Amino acid sequence: MKKLPIVAIIGRPNVGKSTLVNRFTGSRTAIVHDEPGITRDRLYQPSFWRDRDFLVVDTGGIVFDDDSEFLPEIRQQAMMALAEAVAAIFVVDGQEGITAADEEIGNWLRQQNVPYFLAVNKCESSEQGLIQAAQFWELGLGEPLPVSGIHGSGTGDLLDAVLSCFPPLDDLPDADETEINVAIIGRPNVGKSSLLNALTGVSRSIVSPISGTTRDAIDLQIEHQGQSYRLIDTAGIRKKKNISYGAEFFSINRAFKAIRRCDVSLLVIDALDSITDQDMKLAGRIEEEGKAAIIIVNKWDALEKDSTTIYKYEKMLRDRVYFMYWSEILFVSALNGQRVKTIFDSIQTAVKEHRRRVSTAVINEVIQEAVAWYSPPTSRQGKQGRIYYGTQVSSQPPTIALFVNDPKRFNDTYRRYIDRQFREQLGFQGTPLRLIWRGKR
Ligand code: GDP
Ligand code: GDP
Repeated sequence: MKKLPIVAIIGRPNVGKSTLVNRFTGSRTAIVHDEPGITRDRLYQPSFWRDRDFLVVDTGGIVFDDDSEFLPEIRQQAMMALAEAVAAIFVVDGQEGITAADEEIGNWLRQQNVPYFLAVNKCESSEQGLIQAAQFWELGLGEPLPVSGIHGSGTGDLLDAVLSCFPPLDDLPDADETEINVAIIGRPNVGKSSLLNALTGVSRSIVSPISGTTRDAIDLQIEHQGQSYRLIDTAGIRKKKNISYGAEFFSINRAFKAIRRCDVSLLVIDALDSITDQDMKLAGRIEEEGKAAIIIVNKWDALEKDSTTIYKYEKMLRDRVYFMYWSEILFVSALNGQRVKTIFDSIQTAVKEHRRRVSTAVINEVIQEAVAWYSPPTSRQGKQGRIYYGTQVSSQPPTIALFVNDPKRFNDTYRRYIDRQFREQLGFQGTPLRLIWRGKR
């Protein structure tokens, strides 16, 4: 089973969104994703066109308050719908012409990171319809497509256009992919709870708190682009500083427990502070536990920057957290949402690599190539190290056993060289890689 692509429908009320959606979906029943205690319920309707199945989500009608601003709730709602959509259909009313609300939505839509199509509804007659549609060129959103939700005219062309945005069937993720456990780790005040809010803000439905292993550890389940994530011990994140210990107190044991339970750790660092010993300690534990990780430099908005800042910052970090050289570094702002969405992509990559299995044949190809370029050191007695073969013995993290004549003949430099070769040839971005050097006995 593959995850279905999602198409979001937006537009102000009464333009005919539900009529259009009904046409796409036929009489199939809607799936209601309603989570208790939350008003973000959305309706996902299974639809198909030509050989493709997909889900249509109606954002429920975008409305404005008197200042022509989105009401925050609805704006949030629409953002979340778009975040997981492969394409959006913006519906306007051809009989009414352009309204101020259409312009507002159009301006907003243009800033979103999703392909969109402008459907001019209520264009029943083909001649009149073309004229009605043409006026919407003025919105600057590309070609207006005349359609009629009631008659069905033009909807085929519209769906053909939408389908062109779908990834090939084979590229769709499997629906039954398991949940990913994510720990948000960092010192007090680096912005963990802000990041938590930003991440849940761009995700679907959610917020079903699940109790974690300890009494007061609360996990939060969220879904983004069809992948489900469990954010570990969000109670620990939200818990405000314990006053009796002063502002600097934080429970490192709580952080360690969260690391232990996760697949991937987001190590959050404050861009305004340089990296501290506490950060290093957390990084060290992530590496020791063999967890996938992403280093998140938060508050990037608050830093005075020029064109070289990011490179210098990254170099400084790489130098200090050298033992996490395999980790991706993201520069984000939890405050304004900058690059927050890319965190999900990085998590996906890191977890995929963390769970990866490589065949023995491929591993031995890499070893042979590496040894051919740079042979193992020879001792003063003239004895040379030899690698007979290697094989992956486990994953999470990927662990490769290397069978050698004598592990003592391989110094750190050579071991690092082999590690680098595996990474260069095979990737493993975002995950530690364990090499076990095993002698003949
Ligand atoms: P929504 O609020 O955007 O979901 O709009 P609805 O689908 O509820 O439609 C609003 C009104 O427009 C209803 O009275 C529909 O009958 C009417 N309507 C919807 N599609 C068409 C159409 O293609 N042509 C005409 N003439 N009216 C339509
Ligand atoms: P936590 O203790 O790690 O959960 O940190 P908080 O999320 O409570 O944030 C601590 C402070 O940093 C708050 O005053 C936030 O408003 C601020 N903050 C968090 N993220 C950002 C950001 O991306 N940019 C800026 N400028 N401030 C931020």
